Amino acid sequence: MYNESVNGFFGDYGGCYVPEILRGTIDELEIAFRKYINDKDFLEELKLLRRDYIGRETPLMFAKNATERLGGGDIYVKLEGLANTGAHKINNVIGQVLLAKRMGKKRIIAETGAGQHGVATAAACAKLGMECVIYQGEVDVRRQQPNVAAMELYGAKVRAVKSGSRTLKDAVNEALRDWATNFETTHYCLGSALGPAPFPDIVRTFQSVIGQELKEQCAQRNIEIDSLVACVGGGSNASGFFAPFFDDLEIKLYAAEAGGTGFECGKHASRMVGNSARDGIMHGFKSRFLVDEDGQAQNTSSISAGLDYLGISPQLAMLGKTGRVNFAAIRDSEALEALSFFAKNEGILMALESAHAAAYAITLAPKVPKGKALIINMSGRGDKDVFITSPIFRAEDWKAFLHSELERLETNKNVHDEY
Ligand SMILES: *Cc1c(COP(=O)(O)O)cnc(C)c1O
Repeated sequence: MYNESVNGFFGDYGGCYVPEILRGTIDELEIAFRKYINDKDFLEELKLLRRDYIGRETPLMFAKNATERLGGGDIYVKLEGLANTGAHKINNVIGQVLLAKRMGKKRIIAETGAGQHGVATAAACAKLGMECVIYQGEVDVRRQQPNVAAMELYGAKVRAVKSGSRTLKDAVNEALRDWATNFETTHYCLGSALGPAPFPDIVRTFQSVIGQELKEQCAQRNIEIDSLVACVGGGSNASGFFAPFFDDLEIKLYAAEAGGTGFECGKHASRMVGNSARDGIMHGFKSRFLVDEDGQAQNTSSISAGLDYLGISPQLAMLGKTGRVNFAAIRDSEALEALSFFAKNEGILMALESAHAAAYAITLAPKVPKGKALIINMSGRGDKDVFITSPIFRAEDWKAFLHSELERLETNKNVHDEY
């Protein structure tokens, strides 16, 4: 499809550094992917799931008020957050689970950090009738209860990982271990455009539906694109949004990383801006990682849980190095301001991750010529962030609400016993 890897590599980055025992499984996956991505029946079923289950196509909204406020180019927002389960992640997951089903697998495993990928995977498995096990660090299980609850409602088993720092990277290791043991029955549904080849190609391909739709919507409405802006955690929404435009050098591509609260190590999750990150190999691929000189993981920090993985898509790392994609580190405070700006001016509540892209766009808009479009990918919607945004925007009221909820639970203990 678009700017595929060459033998799994994007320039110096990428590759497939997995234990020998997974070699055959990875080869099988690669062969199946190349076959089904050109198979008429597979593509037809995928198309129907995208239309009737995910709710595609997602709207391309003209942000008229924001455009007038900021001056400069016409601002548009691609509303991926309106996809079922609330974000773009479902695009990848539906594709991979359907692929695994065609391969005769019965069981899906996945890693999750904040829980968004876990929720999407659990939902897709429920829809397509697959057994589902989600690995999540014990620390994350405790602090991401709303998503754990959703995964369980969808019928998935959530396994709390107790090794290491008990967060995302430990969940990835556990998932890889499970896969190495159960590869005959099991597909590992990786959550972003990274990991060992061919995952970066697979994930970008399934996410490219965003960019393809955008291209069609712009052609139909005579919108002339000047710039595209997306946020980058692992890099899946940005890859899918940008991919159909990689070769169109007239169109500028901008990517927002988590600048957290500062440039010092541990205060952000910026791999491409600043000098905290290094080239290295981790989790089966070569890219830029936030690790120290001994290769040990640095702490990362971001107000948005989806942007604080320590590595980045090998393809985006390469495109950042060549200058095709321009990166900026957006601070927590700037993301919050952008979230508030688009809520008040456009009536859309962005996910904190997407608000990083919006904040970058606010700085770019005045430089875009009038009549040309600056398009933001709203990767997700912000309902999920109410536990983070409310303590900031309305601390006292939120605290009172939590107290009253606890009280209500304790006094009405037995109300739902019959369930
Ligand atoms: C997970 C997530 C991200 C970051 O993941 P990418 O792979 O970089 O897209 C961004 N936005 C939302 C809403 C997410 O849930």
